[in-house]
Amino acid sequence: MKQLIFIQSCFILFIACQAIDPTVICHGGAGSVDPSRYVGKFKGTVLAVQLGYQKLKESGNALDAVEIAIKSMEVDENFNAGYGAVLTSDGEVEMDACIMDGSNMKVGAITGMQDIFHPITLARRVMEKTKYNFLGPKGAMDLAKKEGFEFLPKGTLATQRAKDSLERWRQAQNVSLGEMVGEGGTVGCVAIDANGNVVAGTSTGGLTGKMPGRIGDTPIVGAGTYADNYMGGLSATGTGEVIMKSVLIYDILKRVNLTEITIQKAAQDACDEMLERYEDDGGVIGVDRYGNTAIAFSSEQMSWAYQNKDNEIHYGINKGDDFLYNIAECKNKNCFV
Ligand code: ASP
Repeated sequence: MKQLIFIQSCFILFIACQAIDPTVICHGGAGSVDPSRYVGKFKGTVLAVQLGYQKLKESGNALDAVEIAIKSMEVDENFNAGYGAVLTSDGEVEMDACIMDGSNMKVGAITGMQDIFHPITLARRVMEKTKYNFLGPKGAMDLAKKEGFEFLPKGTLATQRAKDSLERWRQAQNVSLGEMVGEGGTVGCVAIDANGNVVAGTSTGGLTGKMPGRIGDTPIVGAGTYADNYMGGLSATGTGEVIMKSVLIYDILKRVNLTEITIQKAAQDACDEMLERYEDDGGVIGVDRYGNTAIAFSSEQMSWAYQNKDNEIHYGINKGDDFLYNIAECKNKNCFV
């Protein structure tokens, strides 16, 4: 009898130790962000995690949580995704997006999308409605039409800020074919539910001045976006060319799984090593399979926010930041000034 009680207690303790706090964590892009833009980034990332967390608590569905969080940043011109996406050297918007469900290892990715507000939703449709992982512009466009997506008049997604950035890029010295500028603004979110189901998603316009047809890391599974219930999930941002070569996210998750280090340390080490080796920076946000969070970047800034408790959201943009947004207290006042 005593033995049985002992075994039962061990089991309860084991379950208690494994309890996962439902969590939503998002980034709003790595890069050099002018302080005048901090408040916009704070508001956008905090709103995104708040919407995602609410959804996660209501429905328990990490996929819906990631989609709703990213959608809110895709309509916010403070970010380089959907409305506000940066422009190619030809002055066009070409967006990449990816979403991955770690509970079944399904993934949907698209590239070169134009004139739709929500590339992340289209990526989800690829995952749920086709047998494929990744569709190029024609296939993605056809799927969007079939699925009844709204097509906006040409140029609608190109904001004045994106046009000004392209103008600066055009006037800059030493801009040769292939040079691009990142200003921070790609968006990505990861959610984990109480049962350990992990979903990761990323959406971007890429880098200002990119050659038409250039594809970044965002839709590349394991580089820009990845989720696996057995390991965790992350979303990356920064210079896509080096993130791809580093297979950044998969590398981080393997470090965590094969050694004893935390996901935070693995993520920061991988970003630092990428900077050292390729002289180009980036960042990631995400969780390990127990819901421990990681926020790491080798760029000057990366805006981020996460929520894993009902009334509190953590957020920041510079190294060492960890501001607290109290939802009840901030309801009727601006907490970001
Ligand atoms: N990683 C994105 C790309 O290279 C850009 C970014 O995150 O700022 O397309």
